[in-house]
Amino acid sequence: MSQNYDVIVIGAGPSGMTAALYASRANLNVAMLDRGIYGGQMNNTAEIENYPGFENVLGPDLSEKMYKSSQQFGVEFLYGDVERLVVDDEGRKHLYTDNGELTAMAVIIATGSQPRKLGIAGEEEFSGRGVSYCAVCDGAFYKNKDVTVVGGGNSAIEEGLYLANVTGDVNVVHRRDQLRAEKLLQNRAFKNDKMNFTWNSQVTEIVGDDRKVTGVKVHNKETNEDKVVPTDGVFIYVGTEPMTKAFRDLGITDEKGWIKTDEDMKTNIAGVYAIGDVRQKHLRQITTAVGDGGIAAQEAFNYLESLK
Ligand code: FAD
Repeated sequence: MSQNYDVIVIGAGPSGMTAALYASRANLNVAMLDRGIYGGQMNNTAEIENYPGFENVLGPDLSEKMYKSSQQFGVEFLYGDVERLVVDDEGRKHLYTDNGELTAMAVIIATGSQPRKLGIAGEEEFSGRGVSYCAVCDGAFYKNKDVTVVGGGNSAIEEGLYLANVTGDVNVVHRRDQLRAEKLLQNRAFKNDKMNFTWNSQVTEIVGDDRKVTGVKVHNKETNEDKVVPTDGVFIYVGTEPMTKAFRDLGITDEKGWIKTDEDMKTNIAGVYAIGDVRQKHLRQITTAVGDGGIAAQEAFNYLESLK
């Protein structure tokens, strides 16, 4: 038998937790669903310096605070991996999860994004044995060991700086001749003696022995040179991709899988909203995720009122 709610929020990252807080505070019957622990990508983030109200906060600590705050007005937090969303002729939304079926008239999709893979030889094979997408989770395994960071955006440099505090040298391999990260992060990185940069270069293979990673094969696009650079760990930050597999046949995503919404977070299906990183948008951050969450919850409230 399915359980019924006014609003179901899929995903308990910062956007989902905010939507759940707002919707429950508006006295709606709300379920917030996640296939893992609450917090989303904040759990994989070391220090956060750009969330107002905190000069500096650890990602897992901010997750904990947001979760507590989301629970004040009776949100039910449920485990479940959403596999499919179906909208019936009456406009009721049916969520099929690995843990049963849930229904609601309003659904807020807050499933976020996941790290993009390089798709090169050795990446899959050495995942968890030297290849990582999370410095906070795995950095401590590399105390005094040299590591490679792949990427040049905010995440790569932020997490590279975090690694420089706990590991040996950090070699940043970037395919361009300059970083994309904010200037403030760039300045910190260039001043840090433990951070080195390999420009105009791509990691083309991750090599290792029968136990773990021993190096990366690097191709220099300028000189056309290939060489194997010894390393103990590879941290990959080359962007993200949307977690929208369960929603692909609803006609609400763009060609890359991001969900299209208007500025009120409405998709083209009445009563279905999308918030946070999973949306087609330019700035994917915690501040923009929580803003989206508040807006969608209010819109869901208005929608439910209009059905009365
Ligand atoms: P997410 O945080 O991605 O949460 C989505 C949740 O949905 C997850 O818990 C996931 O388990 C769940 N989910 C997904 N699919 C399903 C499904 N089918 N069924 C059930 N549950 C599902 N932002 C900043 O503002 N400042 C920073 O300093 C910063 N640093 C970052 C560093 C790193 C390394 C990374 C990766 C990101 C960083 N960000 C930072 C970005 C920020 O973390 C994201 O913008 C934010 O977490 C997006 O929130 P969200 O709620 O949209 O999604």
